[in-house]
Amino acid sequence: FTGKTGAELLTEKIKKFKVKEFQSIPIVVKEDDSVYNAISTMFLEDVGTLFVINNHSCLIGVLSRKDLLRASIGNQDLDAVPVHIIMTRMPNITICQKEDLLIDAANKLINKQIDGLPVVKETQNGLEIVGRITKTTITKAFVELIMNEHL
Ligand code: ADP
Repeated sequence: FTGKTGAELLTEKIKKFKVKEFQSIPIVVKEDDSVYNAISTMFLEDVGTLFVINNHSCLIGVLSRKDLLRASIGNQDLDAVPVHIIMTRMPNITICQKEDLLIDAANKLINKQIDGLPVVKETQNGLEIVGRITKTTITKAFVELIMNEHL
């Protein structure tokens, strides 16, 4: 017996969770892709957040469901509107890195009231997108924590 309480052991485990262990595949669109195309991609890939990249494949923006809904209301020609017009853009994007603690990424989701974060890696051209952390990711980590408790 270690002398630690259940809560202390749980805290220890949570603090070891890294972003890289739980991140999922990022789904991206190009800055000149149309809003119509982004909506199709969101349905086909079954994600709620898309990341927007430039010609160097680097992060320049984020598209949420509501960004696309807003752009669609009263707009007849979604094929003619490129996503870079409506996206949330850098430097206002909240990011994380694969070595970050999952709890820190979760805190960013709460504090910024957003559904997802790109996991990025710095390169000469800008930020390369290597993963995605979402509210679903955090839910999975939460469930895993409890399930492993009973093994
Ligand atoms: P929704 O708008 O569908 O509820 P979010 O809560 O994730 O989804 O997005 C709210 C707003 O925040 C949107 O305008 C979106 O572009 C923006 N946003 C989403 N993710 C990020 C992020 N990682 N960094 C900065 N802004 C973001």
